[in-house]
Amino acid sequence: MRILLVEDDGMLGEALRDGLRQLGHVVDWVQDGGAARAALSTASFAALVLDLGLPGGDGLGVLRWLRHAGRATAVVVVTARDSLGERIAGLDAGADDYLVKPFDIDELAARLRAVTRRSDRAADTVLAVGEVVLDLRQRMVTRRGAPAGLTAREYAVLELLMRRAGGLVTRAEIEEELYGFDDDIASNAIEVHIHNLRRKLGAQFITNYKGRGYRVEARC
Ligand code: CA
Repeated sequence: MRILLVEDDGMLGEALRDGLRQLGHVVDWVQDGGAARAALSTASFAALVLDLGLPGGDGLGVLRWLRHAGRATAVVVVTARDSLGERIAGLDAGADDYLVKPFDIDELAARLRAVTRRSDRAADTVLAVGEVVLDLRQRMVTRRGAPAGLTAREYAVLELLMRRAGGLVTRAEIEEELYGFDDDIASNAIEVHIHNLRRKLGAQFITNYKGRGYRVEARC
């Protein structure tokens, strides 16, 4: 499987990378949170091995960012022996498992096999609410079986709303999903996307909670 390894300790990182490669995995190794986010944004990994003890405590930030984006990538966090609080925070933030340093490479490999089996079974491939079906594999949305003809950004907004169906999604969360730090955001851009989505999917499909955010109502 393809694994992203995030470990700032050079010796440990190198040993883990080489060990996992010897076991037949494809391993990309990065040493800080920024590089981890960049890698996760551009490539698809079956699993993430994440040292929570990154400079600035950014390990947890990477994990929260990943889960916030709705990504189901299997995550094993790695922590120092005396950091019980960190371990709990990691599990709360959506880690699938953890290992305490030092650990054996075979144990890491076994944990990775276990968490990826679980996430394969749990992976959603289709989100459906009412007449609207969003196919995550094909990145395709249909309404009553007919293609809805969404743009890439409309799709991204809708995916976020449908993953959280029944819950409120704030405008800031949508902006974070759509735009990089350096992008200029037109002040009405989100409203335009929502307007188009309501036009294509039915005005009742998305509720506007003025000043708070938007919601797709959960229906069975
Ligand atoms: Ca570290």
